[in-house]
Amino acid sequence: MSNGLQIVCGHCGQINRLPADRAPAQGKCGKCHTPLFSGHPIEVDQAAFERHVAHSSLPLLVDVWAPWCGPCRAMAPMFARAAQELEPRVQLLKLNSDEAPEVSARLGISGIPTMLLLQQGRELARISGAMDSQRIVAWTLSGLRQ
Ligand code: ZN
Repeated sequence: MSNGLQIVCGHCGQINRLPADRAPAQGKCGKCHTPLFSGHPIEVDQAAFERHVAHSSLPLLVDVWAPWCGPCRAMAPMFARAAQELEPRVQLLKLNSDEAPEVSARLGISGIPTMLLLQQGRELARISGAMDSQRIVAWTLSGLRQ
């Protein structure tokens, strides 16, 4: 791979290659022209999740959640706030485990909320339980340093 970044568009799924000399925060999708980083987590279904894992060169912070889970709902605004701090270094994804049972089973998700830190298909870290935005950011950065 070149020293550029490969980023999957959260809107249309297009795989974008950004040259290393371009600031990723300003990057737009070459197909649908949506900004690649909006400061908001991207909601993914199973297919979109797999596409990010397979094609993104960025670390992925994945919030595995479900609509009926109170702690998950409580954490949602914290996770959204963490996106503003972690982008464009990390791409934040939200995976609804009810709609992604196969992926959840394969990942061995036993309780939610669970956060996974992935990079190029490799799991760097995981943690269960709701956290506030500061702890989410600190946990993610320490996972990236390992
Ligand atoms: Zn797009």
